[in-house]
Amino acid sequence: MDNCLFCRIVKKEIPSSIVYEDDLILGFKDIQPQAPVHVLLIPKVHISSMNEIKEEHGKIIAHLTSVIPQVAEKMGIKDSGYRVVLNCGKDAGQTVFHLHYHILGGKTLETQFG
Ligand code: 5GP
Ligand code: ZN
Repeated sequence: MDNCLFCRIVKKEIPSSIVYEDDLILGFKDIQPQAPVHVLLIPKVHISSMNEIKEEHGKIIAHLTSVIPQVAEKMGIKDSGYRVVLNCGKDAGQTVFHLHYHILGGKTLETQFG
């Protein structure tokens, strides 16, 4: 999608600090980190939110999820622990409508869920 920020990051039209990339997905550092490690992991294909996930996305979602521990290991937080967050819609505070996991760690995270 031309007007999607994360699609533009995938196309390298907008620079980002990439920590993981393969044919299907991209991981890059959040521009406003909420923890010492804050990575966004996204499918390269445009899926606007959790609400748009269809059965046909099963393979890519499984792959996206399976890469999380690899990213955590690369960022040095696999053993210390980390949190994975996926915001869906207004009440969750989703601001970028291209599906993304937040991977947060590098400190003891607050336990609140809202
Ligand atoms: P959401 O609130 O939609 O779950 O998360 C969107 C995230 O994208 C936010 O944590 C925000 O800091 C991050 N973000 C917004 N614009 C950019 C950008 O241009 N580059 C990067 N690397 N992160 C961004
Ligand atoms: Zn997009």
